[in-house]
This record gives sequence, structure tokens and C-alpha cells, in this order.
Amino acid sequence: MSVFEHPDFDEHEQICFSSDAATGLRAIVAIHTTGRLGIAGGGCRMWPYASDEDALRDVLRLSKAMTYKLALAEIPSGGAKSVVIADPTTDKNEALLRALGRAVHGLGGRYVIAEDVGTTPADMDVIAMETPYCAGRSGGTTSPTAYGTFLALERAVEHRLRREHLKGLRVAIQGMGGVGFRLGQLLVERGVELWVHDIEPDAVERAVRELGAHAVRAEAIYDADVDVFSPCALGDVLTEEHIARLRCSVVAGAANNQLPTDAQAESLAARNILYAPDFVVNMGGVLGAAKLGTPTDANMHASLQRIVTTLEEVFAKADAEGTTTHAAAIALAKAKVVDRSPTGMGKVAASLWRTPLVARTALRMRSAIASARSRA
Ligand code: NAD
Repeated sequence: MSVFEHPDFDEHEQICFSSDAATGLRAIVAIHTTGRLGIAGGGCRMWPYASDEDALRDVLRLSKAMTYKLALAEIPSGGAKSVVIADPTTDKNEALLRALGRAVHGLGGRYVIAEDVGTTPADMDVIAMETPYCAGRSGGTTSPTAYGTFLALERAVEHRLRREHLKGLRVAIQGMGGVGFRLGQLLVERGVELWVHDIEPDAVERAVRELGAHAVRAEAIYDADVDVFSPCALGDVLTEEHIARLRCSVVAGAANNQLPTDAQAESLAARNILYAPDFVVNMGGVLGAAKLGTPTDANMHASLQRIVTTLEEVFAKADAEGTTTHAAAIALAKAKVVDRSPTGMGKVAASLWRTPLVARTALRMRSAIASARSRA
């Protein structure tokens, strides 16, 4: 398995493969960039990958998207991600999570772990027994991510369909997990009709029962006659074959890396489907970790508005330059990526950040971000 020649290798600063024989841990941490603070943040995905290659591809792509997301959110941390090759429903236990916590701690604060698919805020509490470099606790990031996805979907609908309210809109959600279900609730409260699919039958049944959603069998979600397709499960779903089947005008969902390659952004545009770039739509997670509030707080609401203004910038740039929304979002993010090598105050901040005593009290993203902002 080649790493430096891998098509998704993008000059990542550090890639760390960790194993622990006693617990069976097999994990990869990819640090794409460290920002001015000399740290990188990103969630941990636990998934039964079919191969080490699949896990490596996922972590390389996810960590790069984190750099873009944090840059657009103007959070001075770089992007990273970790993957654990394990089935969260059968393999996850305290010993495994604590071994992961030790692996994260070994990186000395360069990587701050949080939740993602297959891990929860409760898991972060266990990991935090081994390392202070752990965010995403205290209620987690699911709620702000879902609320941010809702705001992005609403803005994309307004832009493409010229609708000022969502009543009567038809939305297909793929993945009724933490984010997908909460998004579904917010949409139904505004009179939206839902079509849903999840590989877990219980998740679909709950959506049918509690949200009045229509259940769709697996692949048929791509054929649903809806206004919006909202991918909220895993990545790589917008393949050429699936794009050709879509009947919607807008794609806006929380799943990371929805496009297998940049080329699919062109295919969506060619079909006149407005694509709201995933790393803008799901920015609520990092904004939420930064504020540690709830989406109903005025603070949180104001903070999540950044998603709306960023999307507006993306749509305007794409329209003005005749590029895809995906290309426009990457260009905006790259322009904001902070210098990788910390200097001056950044160096001081980085050394403070790596002090466990300081980190334990000040970490959790919010305080670091707040202090970085006040320094800026
Ligand atoms: P989750 O694990 O709670 O939910 C994912 C759901 O997708 C599960 O119910 C799972 O059964 C389902 N699923 C998996 N494969 C599927 C498939 N092929 N078809 C249909 N359903 C499938 O995860 P989540 O926290 O809700 O996150 C959803 C997506 O949003 C992920 O891609 C995640 O990376 C992204 N995201 C989440 C956050 C966050 O804060 N939670 C932040 C940013 C991005």
C-alpha cells in the first residue's frame, strides 16, 4: 500500500498508524495541516472497513476536507481525522477506546480528537481518561451539525428554487443517524415531506413513526421524485451512475466527501443540480465545538449563520466565474488556509496548548478558539 504516491495524499503533514495487540486497535490518524496554533482537529470514524486501503483513502480525504472546513469557519486550527478499523456495534469497548486515547496522546496535542460516525460524545468521555486532547464531549456536535445542515439546505433551496419557505418541499434523506434524524425533525416542523433510507431498519421505522416519513428501499433513494437530496450517511455517494438518476434540483447534506472525485461536481452542474458543498454544509460541527452551546442559543444561531454567508459567497463566486460550487468553495477555503508553520504568538500558543494542565482546563476547542480570536 503506497502512502506518498496515493492519489488522495495531499502533502499531509503527518500520518500515524497505531496498533495495540491487547485490545485489537487498528487506527490511522491523518494530520493534513496544523494551523497557527500548531494543532489539528477532526473527528474519529469507527467503521468495519473492507481493507486497510479503504481506511487510508477515507482518512486522507476526510482530513483534507477538515482543513477546508476549519479554514472557512475561520478557526485557526488545521484539519485532521482519525479512523479505527472496527465495527462500532460489536468491537467497541472501553479498553479499545482507551488504547485509542493513548495513541492520540502520543501525538502530543498535535491532534485533537472528536466524534464522527461510529463514535459518540460518551466515547469521548472514555478517551478523555487517557488524553486531554479530546473535544466533542458535553452533548457532542450532532445537534449544531444538523441545524447548520438545515440552514444550508434552506439557503440552497431559496437560491435555486426561489422559495422563501419550505412548506410542501419534498426532501430525500439518506442516513437517519444522529444528524439525519435531527435534520428530518427540523424539516418536518416546517411542513416538509420526507423520503428516507438507512441501512438500519430501526432507524427507518423510527422516521416513519415519528416524522411521518416515506420509507424507501436502499438504492431507490436516488430515484426519489424530490426537490432536494440530502446525503447524511457516508461519502462517495454522488457517483456518475447515481447523479444520472437524481430527480432533484438541489443536493445539500451533512455527509463528508459526497463526491468520489472533483469531476462529479461538473456532472451535477451539467444536470443543473445545485450542489451545496459538503464541507460548508456540515461546518456546524466545528462551529458547535467552538461554542459549546446548543443550536437554540442566540450565540449558536449567530455562529451557524456563517454557513449561510459562506454558501452565499460560494454560489456568487461560482456564478461569477462559471465554475462549479465545489471548485468555488475549495478556492475560498484555500485562500483562507492559515500558514502551516507557526511563528511568533502562534508558537507560544502551540506550546501552551501542548501542556496537559492548560489543555485540560482550556482545551475543548472553545477556549483555544476564543483565546486565539482575542489574540488575533
Ligand atoms: P451516525 O453514525 O449517527 O449516522 C449515520 C447513519 O447512516 C447511520 O444511521 C447508518 O446506519 C447510516 N448509513 C450508513 N451507511 C448507509 C448507507 N449506505 N445508506 C443509508 N444509510 C447508511 O453519523 P452522523 O453523526 O449522523 O453523521 C452523518 C454524516 O455527517 C457522516 O458522513 C459524518 O461524517 C457527517 N458529519 C457529522 C458531523 C457530526 O457532528 N455528527 C459533523 C460533520 C459531518
